[in-house]
Amino acid sequence: MSAEERHSWRGDRVGPRGIGVSPGRIIGRVRRMADAIDAPQDPDAQALASEGYAQEATTRLQEAGRSVAAELRTRAEQTNAAGAEVLSAAALMATDSMLHQSAATALAAGRGIEPAIWEAAETVAAMLTSLGGYMAERAADVFDVRSRIIAELRGVPAPGIPDSGTAFILVARDLAPTDTATLDPSLVTALVTSTGGAQSHTAILARALGIPAIVAATGADSLVEGAEIYVDGGAGTICTGPGEKERAAVRAFAERAPLKVFDGHGTTADGHAVPLLANVGGGAEAAAAAAAGAEGVGLLRTEFCFLGRHAEPGHEEQVAAYAAVFELFPGRKVIVRSLDAGSDKPLPFLTDATEPNPALGVRGFRTDVRAPGVLARQLAAIAEAAAAHEADVKVMAPMISTASEAADFAALCAEAGLHGAGVMVEVPSAAVRAASVLRRVAFASIGTYDLTQYTMAADRQLAGLATLNDPWQPAVLELVRLTVAGAEAAGASQVSTPEVGVCGEAAADPALAVVLVGLGISSLSMTARALAPVSAVLRTVTFAQARSLAAAAVDAESAYEARATVRDALPMLKDLGL
Ligand code: PEP
Ligand code: MG
Repeated sequence: MSAEERHSWRGDRVGPRGIGVSPGRIIGRVRRMADAIDAPQDPDAQALASEGYAQEATTRLQEAGRSVAAELRTRAEQTNAAGAEVLSAAALMATDSMLHQSAATALAAGRGIEPAIWEAAETVAAMLTSLGGYMAERAADVFDVRSRIIAELRGVPAPGIPDSGTAFILVARDLAPTDTATLDPSLVTALVTSTGGAQSHTAILARALGIPAIVAATGADSLVEGAEIYVDGGAGTICTGPGEKERAAVRAFAERAPLKVFDGHGTTADGHAVPLLANVGGGAEAAAAAAAGAEGVGLLRTEFCFLGRHAEPGHEEQVAAYAAVFELFPGRKVIVRSLDAGSDKPLPFLTDATEPNPALGVRGFRTDVRAPGVLARQLAAIAEAAAAHEADVKVMAPMISTASEAADFAALCAEAGLHGAGVMVEVPSAAVRAASVLRRVAFASIGTYDLTQYTMAADRQLAGLATLNDPWQPAVLELVRLTVAGAEAAGASQVSTPEVGVCGEAAADPALAVVLVGLGISSLSMTARALAPVSAVLRTVTFAQARSLAAAAVDAESAYEARATVRDALPMLKDLGL
């Protein structure tokens, strides 16, 4: 099989194409996102040496600041209350006297206009960070405003999601988690990025928003502003100048009824129950999950409540954030994951941005050693919120590598009054030593994104490694199998067998979900939008069929072969456009 075949197994090449990471078919107009400004440019030496440069540049910076502030205030008037607060705070920062005074001092000392505002922003941000609390939060505004001022000076569009009164398809190089988190799905109807991997947080959030998305789209850079295009987020194809065939495909996708409703009971055709739970990042997503019939929450990514924060959130704020999820699931399971800071989700108050290899660095549970107390305080807040609600709250730790880490986490949870703690299996060592790890805790949840990136040694963010970074890789499936076997071995020497669920988004791929169930996974947690398609496909197979498909997938020679073998045995996938 050629490399081309391996990459295009899903469909014909009709235009630029990439990896479809969130299904859906749509036609719309392209709006391009301006690239981030990542370095200041020096002026030419002659201009810098000219008389009056510093004075003139000081005035230009102030004018640029005023015009950025005016634009941000206009946007604040057009948005909701929460957005208006963020934009108004940024508008104030654009004309902040300390920022401009610091830049004027740098200009007077002979710096160029862009380096002067660049360094002034760094000074002001460092000062705000040192004050902690609310002031530290404003440091992010300083950097945002700095980019906008430089864009204004250069006469290029400001970085970030473009403003628009009408719906559009967003085409970008990549999106930061904060861009995606503030994206309005009623305006942005699809996402196409030229970089990013299938396992990135951009992909996760696009699925959570339920908008079609394609990442690593070769040729996306040639899509022109305002052009009409067709996007198929399942097949990963883009068609420029769509015709009647594409319009019919959009209509057909919109009319597929079985994919819209989940009745709240995950099961195979012969009644083997598989609770289908939701992955959520906070109260708003939890409400969507409850409305979609989720049987509970299998992963509350607590770091998503605090992305971009420069200081540890206070106790009351944390209690409120967790309670907003618990209150929606009375009597249902809600698995809260302790802060998973680091790698592609840096939290400045916990992680070290200068680590050379952050995915292999101090992230997840490991941050407890660097910043002792943050985890204990988080567990106390979870315990308080849990005590006030009827949800069946469980806690698990990310990035557990050894049995002793699992034991340490369980002990910390017990101290907080949280019993029945669990661990995520994302590091291959935890899967290989699952029997020993699971003797220390009550359950495991496999994070297939990270388990895949660490098993295959392939950064989940890198588009170029997408073929390796595929949860269908037999090596990854083998580790899932080993984890289930380890849980059974642990169960043989104690009162009960630890349950093993999957909360990585592999569970959201209906064909792979069948394989996971066949491997002995007891619950599947996914973005709420995937509940209906996963349930629909699971109901077409018996448990015995799932087991035999799982055996075929583990025995396959490649991810391609595993996927193709299973998909061929599930014709319903094609009927539903999945
Ligand atoms: C995973 O790694 O699969 C997982 C669920 O955790 P996250 O995506 O938040 O890293
Ligand atoms: Mg993970």
